[in-house]
Amino acid sequence: MQSYNSFEVAQSQVMAAGGMLNLDKATLELLLWPQREYTFTLPVRMDNGDTSILHGYRIQHNFARGPAKGGIRFHPDETIDTMRALAGWMTWKAAVLDLPLGGGKGGVICDPRKMSPREMENTARAYVRALWQHIGVDQDIAAPDVYTNPQTMAWMMDEYETIAQRHQPGVMTNKPLPLGGSEGRRSATARGGVLVVREACKTIGVDPTGAYAIQGFGSTGQRAALLHQEVFGGGRLIAVSDSSGAICNQRGLNPKELLVHKLRTGSVTGFPESQQIGLDEVLELDVSVLYPAALENAINIENSDRIKARIVCELANGPTTPQGDKILFEKGIHVIPDILANAGGVTVSYFEMVQNRYSYYWDESLIHKRLDAKMTRAYHTVRSAAQKGKVHPRLGAMLVAVARVAEACKLRGWV
Ligand code: NAD
Repeated sequence: MQSYNSFEVAQSQVMAAGGMLNLDKATLELLLWPQREYTFTLPVRMDNGDTSILHGYRIQHNFARGPAKGGIRFHPDETIDTMRALAGWMTWKAAVLDLPLGGGKGGVICDPRKMSPREMENTARAYVRALWQHIGVDQDIAAPDVYTNPQTMAWMMDEYETIAQRHQPGVMTNKPLPLGGSEGRRSATARGGVLVVREACKTIGVDPTGAYAIQGFGSTGQRAALLHQEVFGGGRLIAVSDSSGAICNQRGLNPKELLVHKLRTGSVTGFPESQQIGLDEVLELDVSVLYPAALENAINIENSDRIKARIVCELANGPTTPQGDKILFEKGIHVIPDILANAGGVTVSYFEMVQNRYSYYWDESLIHKRLDAKMTRAYHTVRSAAQKGKVHPRLGAMLVAVARVAEACKLRGWV
């Protein structure tokens, strides 16, 4: 399969939208590149007494609409280009949802699978010591990402507050609830995805209580499996996969029992009354809704012709390649692009920042209601833009986002 440089893909999406919007050269150039990039080394004391020199990054893509916002990954294979691409996508995601934020992303090159909790804590605190002057509630707000979690955010927030000598919980989001986290954050990404599926089903006339399938039964996929049935009062989950295998049952898998099985065995395979199928077959079944919730490039030039879903809701970041996109569009499959479909997470993170500023916390039902309003409006704005421009929904979403950010840059007099 062809490999992609994510940053080149991200830049080509900006160029496509910028071309249709007739952006001038300076505005386009500004939006193609991150506004600020920080690279630094982190001396981290390991449990055996050695000091490891780790490499850290933070990319702040655009500040025109507000402070940067985005996750921090601890991963051995990250590159500055993946972080640049992801930071840009955060800018577009926030703009599609009309949040007063820009995009950021960062990380540390390390392998958490080989690190103890104390080494993770030392790394998290060292990251903040290196960067603290350039992050903050009005500059750049971080969140967990690959191999980081609410505990990582708790350490980072504590380090930041210790240096700044004031209470600033809003510097990190997706914190544990006792430290100023928000109700509803854990399920926000999946809930946002199911809500836009609801709008898509109404708009294009698909029955959401038909069959659905999920690639990637991780934290987002598991919640989507449950929420699909909760929101629609039905629906048959006919197939799921994780990195260890894939299973199918045309009569329907019970998501709650499957979750218990996965927690007990670590895998979806071996679930009673299911048959094992090939990993890629999950994507190719005849379903109303397919949720890719695992990896980049899952739907590509090799398999997109075999996709039969009526709606593809991209819970994962970048699950469809540019060539795959084109084929799905030609086949009339309704793709809800990642910068819309999985934006529920950053939306509730934004709600968390607002609650932290007020020091007044909302109950879960209010979070769900406000998330629903934001996702519903964003879905229809993107749909209208795509229809007006006669383009596929991903470009429709980029048209909305790029226009909003370009307007903010112009109003500031930057370009
Ligand atoms: P996760 O690690 O909890 O889950 C990923 C799942 O994918 C795991 O179950 C893993 O076994 C499975 N997987 C890996 N390779 C696979 C393969 N070849 N076939 C099938 N399954 C495979 O991660 P997550 O937090 O659920 O994130 C999933 C995706 O959603 C990522 O692309 C992430 O960037 C995106 N996303 C997550 C959030 C969030 O709030 N968690 C927000 C926005 C986007």
